[in-house]
Amino acid sequence: MAEKKTTGKTTRTTKTPKAAPAAGRRTAGGAAAGDAAGGVAAGGAATPVQAQSLGPGVWVELSVAADIEAVEAVSEILTRFAPGGTSVEPGFGLTNEGLGAVVDPTKPAIVRAYLPGLDPAGVERSIAEASTALGHLQAFGLRPIGELQTRIVREEDWAEAWKSHFPVLRIGRRIVIRPTWRRHRRRPEDVVLSLDPGMAFGTGLHPTTRLCLAALETLADEGLLEHGHAVNGAACVIDVGCGSGILAIAAGKLGAGELLGVDTDPIAVESTQQNARLNGLTRRLPVRQGSVPSGEGPFDLVLANLIASLLVQLAPVLRDETIPGGGRILASGIFRDREDDVRAAFEAAGLTMGRRWAEEDWVALEAIRP
Ligand code: SAH
Repeated sequence: MAEKKTTGKTTRTTKTPKAAPAAGRRTAGGAAAGDAAGGVAAGGAATPVQAQSLGPGVWVELSVAADIEAVEAVSEILTRFAPGGTSVEPGFGLTNEGLGAVVDPTKPAIVRAYLPGLDPAGVERSIAEASTALGHLQAFGLRPIGELQTRIVREEDWAEAWKSHFPVLRIGRRIVIRPTWRRHRRRPEDVVLSLDPGMAFGTGLHPTTRLCLAALETLADEGLLEHGHAVNGAACVIDVGCGSGILAIAAGKLGAGELLGVDTDPIAVESTQQNARLNGLTRRLPVRQGSVPSGEGPFDLVLANLIASLLVQLAPVLRDETIPGGGRILASGIFRDREDDVRAAFEAAGLTMGRRWAEEDWVALEAIRP
């Protein structure tokens, strides 16, 4: 439990059924389709969603605003009722005269889940049960949780509506994540990644991804991506568990020479390929379904935004993927309770621990192969 990630990744713990709108896997908002909305104080009686509005092609969106510390618990409750899992939209603060946004962990996040409208009685029951369970959670006095909101979302409105939930994001000093349909006025130093979150999991919103991006920027500032063992003299980089490909793409744009993405999930492979194309990296970023050992190493830099247990298990394999004499691993996805375990496993594998980056409950570690 301690390791479960709450954004993006939670949405992947259960697959959206085939009939669900494609964007349902992600932070899909369905903002345009609010033709029936109701709020219910957690623990109170739910406003009934009109049964006659339900049917095929109709979904009921449940949403709850929750303090970042309560997001995981709220997500867990909504997941019980929604076959497609939940999505989490972090709170944003606007920057750059409202043209950009940064994640603001002090603002409440919104947890969403979607119920198929095919079964009106089931919808009503789920809303009542979710509301009761949220009431119990509230009683724990954990952290502030908003009212359970419900609204009808029509599949035909979905494809466009969710886009409004993805602003341009600035991470670190010069990395900019630009959803493909948004415009960004580029500053001279900006490294702009175009991503299509409709397909992608890693949009740079999850703290574990943000930590890696910030760390990558630091390595790039030190010249560690521009110098290495690629044919052009720059670094060769593998992204283990590439997801949307966001880290590999960032590494490529920050100066790395050769890239490789591997992921056990075929959807991630497809997503990375699409995003590589969007960023003009198709040739430099081959992607394979699978894991490490990649059979193509060793690499100057091994990116591994996985989870602690997997990092512990894979420590010797990740070491073998890394070039001796200074090659490094950037390991992220480490819930703070598990940091010591990861350090111990890496040290036992003969690696020297380097820098540490932390945000909220998450830690990223640099490990160097002597
Ligand atoms: N790199 C992206 C995604 C990280 S999520 C980012 O930073 O945002 C972790 C990814 O690891 C998922 O896409 C998951 O499918 C993949 N994964 C899980 N276990 C794996 C394994 N053993 N080997 C390779 N990839 C794995």
